[in-house]
Amino acid sequence: MCLQTGQKVQERAEMPIDISRANFSLAQHCFFFDLDGTLAPIVDDPSTVAIPDDFKPALARLYSQTGGAVAILTGRGLSDALTILDPLPLPVVGSHGLEYDARLGGSGDQSSAQAALKEVLAPLQAFAAAKDLKLECKPGAIALHYRHAPEHAVAAQRTIDNVASFASGLRALHGKMVSEVTVASVDKGTALTTLMSRTEFAGRVPVMVGDDVTDEDGFSAAQSWGGCGIKIGSGETCAKYRAETMAEFHHWLAKLVAEGK
Ligand SMILES: [Mg+2]
Repeated sequence: MCLQTGQKVQERAEMPIDISRANFSLAQHCFFFDLDGTLAPIVDDPSTVAIPDDFKPALARLYSQTGGAVAILTGRGLSDALTILDPLPLPVVGSHGLEYDARLGGSGDQSSAQAALKEVLAPLQAFAAAKDLKLECKPGAIALHYRHAPEHAVAAQRTIDNVASFASGLRALHGKMVSEVTVASVDKGTALTTLMSRTEFAGRVPVMVGDDVTDEDGFSAAQSWGGCGIKIGSGETCAKYRAETMAEFHHWLAKLVAEGK
């Protein structure tokens, strides 16, 4: 995954354009959003994350004004993400592209993914216990969280890399203060491409917004459909546009919705 993402970063050599210069249409574009660090501020305890109350009306209006051409693409498990979004009507693809909301057609059989993850659970449990790190088991991934213990970041990343290389069908994915072993056959890019064939999205131009390296697959997929990625924050990216902060992106989106074009 790291190499793939690195390759995608190198696909676009130009500097991202400031988001203030992006000109999108509610009638012609569709929107895919990451959750943590994009719609909701990142917090030390991932279980307490929340979308700011003053931003929720803009998301609800975007969903309505685009005729439902909005989806959340997140590394969180589906049910976890739906709880955070409630009562917003936005549908979700969770677990980095493995779990589809029933409103997006559902996920089908996940037994092979779960069998592959089961193979690497024991060594990850042992590592997490030894370092007092939080281990999160999701339907399509096992995540090691080290936001509260950044001194273990390198060891955690190495452990995830090791287990991913020993088991077939899995890959390592390193985000902000979290490293995961996930199913290799799906990512946010495959999710975006799958959704583009649905009636809500077909014929529209995709915009993918995210803040982390795990969103690069989504940026690349959106741009391969003639759309664009919007990277929030600093760091290398293949995205065409950049917002310096999450607040800047929220302000930009609220303005787009208020203008209603
Ligand atoms: Mg994020």
